[in-house]
Amino acid sequence: MSKFKILPLPSEIAETARRRAAAGASDHSIRTVDSPASYPCRHCLQWAQPGERVVLFPYASIPAGRPYSESGPIFVHAEACEGYAPTTKYPENFRRHRVFRAYNVEHDMIDAVVVPDDQPEAVIEQLLQNPETAFLQARSVSRGCYTFRIERA
Ligand SMILES: [Zn+2]
Repeated sequence: MSKFKILPLPSEIAETARRRAAAGASDHSIRTVDSPASYPCRHCLQWAQPGERVVLFPYASIPAGRPYSESGPIFVHAEACEGYAPTTKYPENFRRHRVFRAYNVEHDMIDAVVVPDDQPEAVIEQLLQNPETAFLQARSVSRGCYTFRIERA
C-alpha cells in the first residue's frame, strides 16, 4: 500500500477567509448550517453541524496562470477549528460521494476516478502508482467542489 498524506486546507487560508468574511468581503459569505451533511469544513474535515456557522468563499485549488487553473466555492467553520489530523489516515467523513483527480507536477489533470463507496485507499493506491502523479484532489462527486488534497507521504 502506498503511503499517503491528507492535506486539509492550510490554517492560514481558513483564518484569512474568516477575517475577510467578518470584514464584509463581497466574495465571502457567512451561512448558518441547516442540514447535517451538506457543509464540509475543509480545515477540520468535519461536516459542520446544524446551527454552526460557516464561511463560503472561492479557493484556487489549482493556482492561476495554468491551463487547469481553477477556483471554486468551499466552506470552513466560521469559528476557529482544529486542522485535520492525523494526516496519514483517510478522513472518515469523506469515504463516500468523492471523485479523485490526479495532477502532474505542471498542475495538469492526468486522470480522474469516481471513488467506489468506502474504497478511497484503493483508488489512492491506483492513482499514485502512476509515476506522473504529483498529487490528488478529492472532490464532491455531485457538485464537484474541492474537498482536500492527497500526496505521497
Ligand atoms: Zn472546521
